[in-house]
Amino acid sequence: AAPLKTLDPDVFAAISAELARQQSHVELIASENFTYPAVMEAQGSVLTNKYAEGYPGKRWYGGCEQVDKVEQFAIDRAKQLFGADYANVQPHSGAQANTAVYAAVLSPGDKVLGMNLSHGGHLTHGNPANFSGKLYQFCQYGVREDNGRLDYDELAAVAAREKPKMITVGASAYSRTIDFARMGEIARANGAYLFADIAHIAGLVAAGVHPSPVPHADFVTTTTHKTLRGPRGGLILCRAAHAKAVDSAVFPGTQGGPLMHVIAGKAVCFGECLKPEFKTYSAQIIKNAQALCAAMLGHGYKIVSGGTDNHLMLVDLRGKFAELTGKVSQETLDHANITCNKNTVPFETRSPFQASGIRLGTPAVTTRGMNETDMVEIAACIDTVLAAIGTPGQAEAIANVKQRVLALTARYPLPYHL
Ligand code: PLP
Repeated sequence: AAPLKTLDPDVFAAISAELARQQSHVELIASENFTYPAVMEAQGSVLTNKYAEGYPGKRWYGGCEQVDKVEQFAIDRAKQLFGADYANVQPHSGAQANTAVYAAVLSPGDKVLGMNLSHGGHLTHGNPANFSGKLYQFCQYGVREDNGRLDYDELAAVAAREKPKMITVGASAYSRTIDFARMGEIARANGAYLFADIAHIAGLVAAGVHPSPVPHADFVTTTTHKTLRGPRGGLILCRAAHAKAVDSAVFPGTQGGPLMHVIAGKAVCFGECLKPEFKTYSAQIIKNAQALCAAMLGHGYKIVSGGTDNHLMLVDLRGKFAELTGKVSQETLDHANITCNKNTVPFETRSPFQASGIRLGTPAVTTRGMNETDMVEIAACIDTVLAAIGTPGQAEAIANVKQRVLALTARYPLPYHL
């Protein structure tokens, strides 16, 4: 029963260093957040020891009385939070949730219409390197070149031409409100299922600061670790008519035993999302994103679509620096303790490994308590670093910004201890 520190000093040291990194960096990766210590407590609990194949009341193993309660809390809270008919809380991740939705109603070779990855879609929406692109026949829609926004008219035309069995909507790098009602109309007009993947915006939807796809979509999936601020995992919501197919597609279709410790973390997370404070938090995420976006525009950057309605923005670096890639920007910002990711932009001219954009998101900095004034400081720090790249003053600029970031992060400590 030795503690980690003495049992495995190597792993302990890496975790300690990661905690120090999280404390001392400004985290702008749009898909990351800092979860509640109570969620981590649930995840580190004895529930990790339990096998519970099946669903509450219908398990293949004995001794499931307590985990049944935990899973039912998670299911009931998820349904309440999103106003959904049915919830499956077992997917191990967002990708697993998507795998199960496809498996529930599609056969290999079926046609699916999904959002172009380089326009903000996700790998699991038909990328050729992903199972989705290998198993199903994907066709794509994207954003308009002139305004960076989803082109619903083009989408309707492609759907009418291609007659897909399913339309997927949802993105990893799209900063505008998604018109799920319109998507629902397009899907129904063409006899297609509508599948909304709200992995990024689920917290905003739950808080009512982004319209919900639940009334319009047959299936809704999300991750639980982004704007929902819960444990790393997935969730499927669906109409009652699809419940049986979804349950079978998750287990035994594509997964074995559920991660009961993670499901406990999801239950805790959904409970927190139901509180009024979560609405305030979610509204602040958007205020911060808009403040950061305005400050970046003020420094002369081009933002895809010209702004943001949600938690993220995509900076098209070509608007200010012709030569600067997303890759070099990400790496250089990291030296100044600012973490973000390179991202392709719509109608990208570089390889995805270089990319012309960086994606900036505010869920994590908002959890720390940072506000609009802090966003102005963060934008100034980013601009100072990027403008110095390749100049004789680069090292000094990075060192100066790092001090500013350390001063900022010290004012908003994370509530984690080892
Ligand atoms: N769907 C979307 C839109 C995402 O952005 C992501 C993750 O970034 C996923 C699915 C996959 O989630 P996970 O990494 O948990 O598999």
